[in-house]
Amino acid sequence: MLFQSMQQKKPSQLTFLYTITYSRMKAQEFLLLIMQKKPALRQGFTDSEFVYIRELCDALAIKYTQSDFYVDIADTSCTFSNKGLRISQEKKTKTSLRMYYFSFDPQIVELLKLAEEKNAHNFVGQLLGYPPCCIEYFTKHFSKDNTNLEFPIAIWELTITQRHRDYCILSHFPCSKNCISSLELARQYFDTIFADNELWAKELRSELQNAILSNSSK
Ligand SMILES: [Zn+2]
Repeated sequence: MLFQSMQQKKPSQLTFLYTITYSRMKAQEFLLLIMQKKPALRQGFTDSEFVYIRELCDALAIKYTQSDFYVDIADTSCTFSNKGLRISQEKKTKTSLRMYYFSFDPQIVELLKLAEEKNAHNFVGQLLGYPPCCIEYFTKHFSKDNTNLEFPIAIWELTITQRHRDYCILSHFPCSKNCISSLELARQYFDTIFADNELWAKELRSELQNAILSNSSK
């Protein structure tokens, strides 16, 4: 009996979070928030999706608030940029996303909402725990006409090219091909994911490694 219970694996929080978020990247972010590896999250949800997220937050005492605006967005991961066009509540459709801000600290949640409303990218980045070098890179280069700050990266932990396929570790644009601060964060995040769900982590790693390989052989 004892042997049997020792063999039993602990349930994966990621697997559970995926059944609520329907997104690998969003599930990972929630795990990292719960494990206190991230101070706060910013994610987009439709009104109907958020019903389940609200239950999760209430159960775990995660504080949240939402933007007053909605966005119609091409990038469904919606964690990377303000690519989408902001629209008013009256103009929203069923697929319009609202931005939500999550943290265990209610003050951070309110500050994030305010900072994003004012387009204070610098402050938003700080509140989300992004490295200062990458925040500086983002604020310098991001504009309406330049919303994708992605460039080829050969380190799998840092690559963000597969985010449209829902495989990505980071939630920000790294400032360089070998940004040390981003790499430290990504390794911490990956270790946390690995500790929760080995299969999930291995799939993530192989998808990212394959993406780099196929890119370098082009
Ligand atoms: Zn950086």
